[in-house]
Amino acid sequence: MVDLKSQYEKIKSEVDKGIQEVIDSCAFINGPAVKTFQADLEYYLGVKHVIPCANGTDALQVSMMALGLKPGDEVITTSFTFIATAEVIALLELTPVLVDVEPDTFNIDPKAVEKAITAKTRAIVPVHLFGQCADMEALQEIADKHDLFIIEDACQAIGADYIFKDGSRKKAGTISNVGCTSFFPSKNLGCFGDGGAIFTNNDKLADEMRAVVNHGMKVRYYHDMIGVNSRLDSIQAAVLKVKLQYLDDYAKERRRAADHYDNAFKNHPKLQTPTRWENSTHVFHQYTLVTKDIDRAALQQYLMSKNVPAMIYYPVPLHMQKAYLDPRYKEGDFPVTEMLSERVISLPMSTELDEKQLEYITSSVIEFLEQ
Ligand SMILES: *Cc1c(COP(=O)(O)O)cnc(C)c1O
Repeated sequence: MVDLKSQYEKIKSEVDKGIQEVIDSCAFINGPAVKTFQADLEYYLGVKHVIPCANGTDALQVSMMALGLKPGDEVITTSFTFIATAEVIALLELTPVLVDVEPDTFNIDPKAVEKAITAKTRAIVPVHLFGQCADMEALQEIADKHDLFIIEDACQAIGADYIFKDGSRKKAGTISNVGCTSFFPSKNLGCFGDGGAIFTNNDKLADEMRAVVNHGMKVRYYHDMIGVNSRLDSIQAAVLKVKLQYLDDYAKERRRAADHYDNAFKNHPKLQTPTRWENSTHVFHQYTLVTKDIDRAALQQYLMSKNVPAMIYYPVPLHMQKAYLDPRYKEGDFPVTEMLSERVISLPMSTELDEKQLEYITSSVIEFLEQ
């Protein structure tokens, strides 16, 4: 699905040098590479604080801990996302409240959020799914009205711009109280292992989050709260520091591939190409088609037989996952999510797809549809 090897070849000398510097310095934890990457990312995002941590799942968990969410508090999120979003809510004994998504953007439906609010609701976790921002202005309005926190899951959308109605822009993850991202290798800004970060403009919250990731410690060996151990390695930071310089170029390459796919599939009666919403740029973490009246499994099989990997993100909605079955929810409750789970298919997407590969992929899809 992604071609990390070709991407690495192009930046090998810079990356290898950065890694070697960390090894030579032996500052493996919280070394200078972490501090400079943090500062570079703060500058890139235009955000006051970046708190590096061990992965995107931790970023979400640490945010919820630092915001002081307590067992029984309700947290509203989308039924169509990667499991991590709901997992941390459940692990902290908060109550995940699921709502449906919009059929065109696949992002959380603000009207459904508003309907799901109760006296126990404390936070909303929108996911900027597949690389495009959720409707943050509508969500912020709801959050302000009901005094709720917003934690953006920007794990798939680092570098995307939210475009406000007045034309101003903010980077995904910096629009609300807190934003979370992942540096998992296949993410748009990926390292060579696990990594993550949290973003905020709030000084006090940043202090809390820095303490939570460091065993709840503000003064060394004095623990005023229960924390976790969640760090970004210096070696990963050295890799990320190099790749951050190319993040906007990477997004361009992904959009070029998406344009190619769009041109090949637009107006096809059996395929819905991804909607590009006017209030967000799209960084195409995934290029996801919605199929109509076809045997999706057969399409996936056919593509596999032609050496074209195609994946289903996500085949099972959250409320139908075994570990998350809940008497509050049943099949049919989230019709858009359920429809998408049955019909979506994601094509290969990376910074390294050339015209020949794209041509081969699109003609393989068309071949299947016409057979
Ligand atoms: C990848 C991802 C996460 C988790 O990130 P990890 O670094 O793998 O823990 C959370 N939410 C979404 C939407 C993701 O895509």
